[in-house]
Amino acid sequence: MGCYTYKMNDKTHWVAITSFCNNNCLFCLDGKHKSNIFLSDFQIKKNILEGINNNCSRIVLSGGEASISPNFKEYIKYSKLVGYKHIQTITNGRMFSNELFLDECICAGLDEITFSIHSHRKDIFEQITNSTMSYKQTYKGLINALSKKIIVSCDIVLNKLNIDEIDKTIAFLIKIGLREFDIMQLMPFGSAWKNWDMLYYDIEKKKDKINSAIALCKNNNVVVFTNKIPYNILDNNYDQIQNPQKLYDEIRGRSEQIIERLNSDSFLECYPKRCKYCFLKDLCQFIIDSFKKCNKEEKKLNTKDTIIFSKMDNYYHNKSKIKIIDYYNLKFKNIPFCIMPKHLREKISFEDLTYDKKNFDLMYCTQIFINHIKVKPIKCKDCFYNYKCKGISVLKAKKSGFNQLKPE
Ligand code: SF4
Ligand code: SF4
Repeated sequence: MGCYTYKMNDKTHWVAITSFCNNNCLFCLDGKHKSNIFLSDFQIKKNILEGINNNCSRIVLSGGEASISPNFKEYIKYSKLVGYKHIQTITNGRMFSNELFLDECICAGLDEITFSIHSHRKDIFEQITNSTMSYKQTYKGLINALSKKIIVSCDIVLNKLNIDEIDKTIAFLIKIGLREFDIMQLMPFGSAWKNWDMLYYDIEKKKDKINSAIALCKNNNVVVFTNKIPYNILDNNYDQIQNPQKLYDEIRGRSEQIIERLNSDSFLECYPKRCKYCFLKDLCQFIIDSFKKCNKEEKKLNTKDTIIFSKMDNYYHNKSKIKIIDYYNLKFKNIPFCIMPKHLREKISFEDLTYDKKNFDLMYCTQIFINHIKVKPIKCKDCFYNYKCKGISVLKAKKSGFNQLKPE
């Protein structure tokens, strides 16, 4: 089965060709469920075609490690043939150390290679990949790819083994010639959960490391994205907050399993033990609560709130506008205390987000959450109002940052 995401405005189809891999990474998300199979040729081509039928113009061939499939080049050619405009693979890069193989893949139509590279140091790199020889082959593959007319980017998964030198790793990769990074947070799934003691680190304590790695990319005019990095630690790089719409893809990829579990009065097997480590924790809890409530009569989201929020938008951008709005006739809901004049603060109240449909619809529920998700920076921990304040919308934070919030 494939799944869909969006890059820029193009819809992307993901197809896993195999669950085999020539590395054995400590945090492999597929680790626990690895069945070491190549899907049948018929099934893979069917999955590739599925994206075209769903109007996708880009395809990502992934795994396991897609490039070790004996038919990898054939699937690139087939993807081109059926109409994809852009063909990308996500890889550990070892197969591309063979330049002839790389050339053949490019000839077949490969447009972009994303290398998973987690350290500039051989010892740490191979500790993470759990495979000797992987460092030499991956870097050879990367250097080969950078010498071709093809897009090359890099995924880095942050963990206890690489976080302290993440800035050095990025500086090294920029020096080699990489111009695009996706910095990803560790998730408590697959092999990562099995190796949690070895990999887990407190991301709040390492926020300066992460922010300086992002700053390094920006200073070198290198493209950088964050992926599942908690919004609250990106106070110095708020523009890098991940688009909350990506949460939609996270749930869509698990939707069948979630619905099945909810209908049998349970939830994902990772619930609740691993949730405190997981980027999806608030969303999963909202889904569970909404499912439980949806058969009961629930209070609908108050549409007046939306009006109040839109008026508050003016206030966020130009405090003087508060003078021209009759705030005394309004009640403020879910507005941070610190951006309101003291004499209006007693008018602020807070409401929990509620699901507003009678029948449960997982993707609709996810969209409600995305539309209303709020965030507070770490500095709010010292604020008198912290225990009841929900902070500002993520989209607002992504646009204007957290400077306007002043703990009291
Ligand atoms: S937040 Fe959701 S996905 Fe994450 S560990 Fe908990 S149940 Fe699993
Ligand atoms: S500083 Fe943070 S916790 Fe305090 S009122 Fe402002 S947003 Fe809320």
